[in-house]
Amino acid sequence: MMGRLGWAWVVSALLCLAPTVSAQTIALVGGNVVDMEGGAPLEDAVVLVEGERIVAIGARSEVAIPDGARVIDQSGHWLIPGLMNMHVHLGLILPGKMAARLANETDAALALRMAEAAQKVLQAGVTTIRIPGDSRHADLALDRSIRRGESHGPRIHSAGEALVITGGHGSEPGVLYADGPYELIKAARQQISLGANWIKIMISGGIATDGGGIAEALMTPEEIEAVVDAAHRFGAKVAAHSGSPIATKVAVEAGVDSIEHGYMLDSAVLRKMKKAGTWLVPTIVVSQPATAPFFERIGSPKWYLARRESVGKIHWGALQTAIEEDVNIALGTDQLPHEPNDGTTATVREAEYYAEAGMTHLGALRAATTETARMLGVSDEVGTLEVGKYADILALPSDPTKNISALRELNFVMKGGHVYRDDRAAAR
Ligand SMILES: [Zn+2]
Repeated sequence: MMGRLGWAWVVSALLCLAPTVSAQTIALVGGNVVDMEGGAPLEDAVVLVEGERIVAIGARSEVAIPDGARVIDQSGHWLIPGLMNMHVHLGLILPGKMAARLANETDAALALRMAEAAQKVLQAGVTTIRIPGDSRHADLALDRSIRRGESHGPRIHSAGEALVITGGHGSEPGVLYADGPYELIKAARQQISLGANWIKIMISGGIATDGGGIAEALMTPEEIEAVVDAAHRFGAKVAAHSGSPIATKVAVEAGVDSIEHGYMLDSAVLRKMKKAGTWLVPTIVVSQPATAPFFERIGSPKWYLARRESVGKIHWGALQTAIEEDVNIALGTDQLPHEPNDGTTATVREAEYYAEAGMTHLGALRAATTETARMLGVSDEVGTLEVGKYADILALPSDPTKNISALRELNFVMKGGHVYRDDRAAAR
């Protein structure tokens, strides 16, 4: 039996619940919104988020906060777009102890390992990633699951499985080999049909496998051209793993969209990239001292450490030249975005290395946000804080355009209007 009071309680409870039927409104109040074009920040701002998008940004006096909105104080903090990491393998397995431990990993176990990593990616403030090749399409399943709201993780742009030529970089049992234009076209179309919006090709040797020298051009021009043509016809872009200036020259001429690593690129080929608008995703962190403890921790074999060491200096010089030549640079780590490095994450350390190599602090921040969005072709959705875009927002207690190391202190992460991390929640 429910008395009159009881019903009144139920009715008022329903009324209280009513606003949640429409999309939740969140007001981030009092923060400084960083101007990604280099102007002064919008101080003491209100950023209004409805559902998954930003609906208003302005000075506190200009933006009315609707009744019932959840107000989150951001005073004393700088607000920036979510970080974007363009070279992430969620299922990464490197030679050594790690490879031995995961040698018989099942598809199901791989998917779970990726899902766990995806949550840590968000915690590190990385709200969009590009996966230039990962195993067995588990990342594409995870992407769909995240889009449906069943799993939590970053926005994913994926190349599906990388296309490897027989004997080339990435050669290992179970890998998808494709040789010659026709096989490569078919393999590219297979990735696209499974949900890939990038295609990854291995056009030179690399550090992690013994397949061919880093400076060697292993794929033929005909093979590269065929993949680029097939991908572009479907609106997909092409990322080429390349350490080699010769292979990169061919790739740029064939219309490849991004060059990954670029260990040994010289000024001639970097100028060519600048002219063509080709992107460089440096992954500098993997060849530099910051990651040495990581490789020791995972038990990397001696040959791997030697190969890494030998490439470090020349890789650094290539990055410095790329910055001097004003090549398009999009941040990528080739490590998990949240991997600990020098007291911060691989993503933040990578951005710091860009500043150390000659980029402005604003430039390093843009390489992790605005520029990456441009490379992906999603500038109308993410990469800046603007009305109509996804509410992928980070907060930090100092200005990252003055010093990119401010990213080390990030303490608030929102993706698509959902708060995934708020270190100050207890103090509110
Ligand atoms: Zn990689």
